[in-house]
Amino acid sequence: MSSSATVRGAPPAPARMAEQRPGKHTVHWFRKGLRLHDNPALREGLNGAVTLRCVFIIDPWFASSFNVGINKWRFLLQCLGDLDSSLKKLNSRLFVVRGQPADALPKLFREWGTTVLTFEEDPEPYGRVRDHNIMSKCREVGITVMSRVSHTLFKLDKIIERNGGKAPLTYHQFQALIASMPPPPAAEATITPQLFNGTVTPVADDHDERFGVPTLEELGFETEGLKPPVWVGGESEALARLERHLERKAWVASFGRPKMTPQSLLASQTGLSPYLRFGCLSTRLFYYQLTELYKRIKQVRPPLSLHGQILWREFFYCAATRNPNFDRMEGNPICVQIPWEKNQDALAKWANGQTGYPWIDAIMIQLRDEGWIHHLARHAVACFLTRGDLWISWEEGMKVFDELLLDADWSVNAGMWMWLSCSSFFQQFFHCYCPVRFGRKSDPNGDFIRKYIPALKKIPTQYIHEPWLAPEAVQIAASCVVGRDYPLPMVDHTKASKINIERIKQVYAQLAKYSPHGNVLNPNSVQRPNAVLSSPSPSSIIASINQSNYLCSKSPDPSLNSQTQQEKTYKEIPNYNDRNRALRPQKVKSSKPPPFKEIVIVPIVQNNNVNHESVADGRTQ
Ligand code: FAD
Repeated sequence: MSSSATVRGAPPAPARMAEQRPGKHTVHWFRKGLRLHDNPALREGLNGAVTLRCVFIIDPWFASSFNVGINKWRFLLQCLGDLDSSLKKLNSRLFVVRGQPADALPKLFREWGTTVLTFEEDPEPYGRVRDHNIMSKCREVGITVMSRVSHTLFKLDKIIERNGGKAPLTYHQFQALIASMPPPPAAEATITPQLFNGTVTPVADDHDERFGVPTLEELGFETEGLKPPVWVGGESEALARLERHLERKAWVASFGRPKMTPQSLLASQTGLSPYLRFGCLSTRLFYYQLTELYKRIKQVRPPLSLHGQILWREFFYCAATRNPNFDRMEGNPICVQIPWEKNQDALAKWANGQTGYPWIDAIMIQLRDEGWIHHLARHAVACFLTRGDLWISWEEGMKVFDELLLDADWSVNAGMWMWLSCSSFFQQFFHCYCPVRFGRKSDPNGDFIRKYIPALKKIPTQYIHEPWLAPEAVQIAASCVVGRDYPLPMVDHTKASKINIERIKQVYAQLAKYSPHGNVLNPNSVQRPNAVLSSPSPSSIIASINQSNYLCSKSPDPSLNSQTQQEKTYKEIPNYNDRNRALRPQKVKSSKPPPFKEIVIVPIVQNNNVNHESVADGRTQ
């Protein structure tokens, strides 16, 4: 498109409409999918169009959904800025509009004389309803709507249809289904100037005022003191990262698996999840570039397991797409109903990194500061909040992640929280992460902790995961008196996890009454799938952590001062650890029943998707 094609200083709307050439006048509506590569809906809209306008609507739902954190807003605005720059290079622009899509779009359609609306299909229930409403409105006024699948590898409905109308609830089942389907379509090439082929974007002189990408300040954020972003949003950054990611993969494929090091806990230059979440990077491009790389290096077709992680994403999308209550316990047919406790104070301590467990706190501070945490770190904090220590609902943790995580994805986030809390997909509640032992394994020198908790900087390594055990003199020398400069542990992990394992055991015991096989408590009743090897799953990660020989810490007693605690430290008994106790729930001594609330199990009968056997199978991956 030549620059003369851009209509500058155009007259007001009705006159402009009257002048408008007949033909196809497209609005492409960006939501996720913030990219020009592999954007089939945009290509479709562009094809033969007289005009094209690319719109992004700052939807109040996004703005208000559990308080989107400032890092996430900044990331989104960077994505939009990058998209606008790329469109400028094509002599086009991005139109950023604020409002409810159902109100804002029809007004713009009238103003612009739109005849065609294109967008990427949104697989999430909220998006499906929103899109259905817009489609109806468009139909009423004769606007053609075209949507294309490109946020996921497959059209999820096809997977569900192939499974008799039910979403597969085990990864094993999911893998078997997709293995029987044609491979996902290839990623489409990026939009080039040639594709514009006479199509223009009418851009008025007041475009920046009316449709420019807003700043954080314009959105009402206080930015003073805001640290520079660790993750920069946008398609350009996503593609550069993909290249680095593949270089790393090539290295791994040729020379072996990289070891998990404390360095892995930090923001990586090859991390992709926020880019996949916002659609700055196409899943299919990622999938096929990885396939090509593997073929080049190994000279054979890759196994499905190569794509393990990306298929986990697809799995959760598929499980959630027809379940509008996927992100909550009540009314969610695949979620075990667990009587979690409400404790705002404890929740706030967890969310703000003030639990008194340095490993947990450092992770939560990293999440708040940077917007991303490592997969294992997510395991640690999710287990701690829910079935491990605090017995607070996974929904609360999910909301905090949703606010702070750049990659927070409605389906994946809820799915993983249900998993970690043993509310769905996974049932090995007797595997419980110790916030000290797990931390010590992942961050043996405490460098990660010291990076995020300056108060603990000078605490010697031997105490860095349990500062309350440091003798008073050591604490004073380190300028960190526990209870004053850093909190005492808010909970005694050993006691709390023991009680919680008992609680959840009761839940499952009652649930077993409703299971046709009555075997939900028997870990051996579930077979590992052997058809296709999968990528590490939460259960295999837990197993490998548990195989470590790190002894569980001594239980802290917040009511004691550190010196007394030090004196009371358990004698370290060889081979004694939480894992050994936790793996044998039948050996947990419970002479007195712990003080639980009465557990109410709601038998879930209304949903066809539920198959208790397959839910149990969920932990086999
Ligand atoms: P890589 O390991 O390089 O994987 C590549 C991509 O595969 C990721 O970018 C992601 O899109 C996908 N992926 C990887 N692991 C998983 C998984 N277990 N489940 C589904 N998809 C996966 N991931 C999200 O993308 N969004 C979330 O909201 C999210 N919430 C989580 C909540 C909890 C409690 C837990 C335990 C995990 C969650 N994960 C989530 C999964 C996982 O932690 C991240 O995808 C991963 O850490 C991203 O890092 P990466 O880009 O380096 O991933």
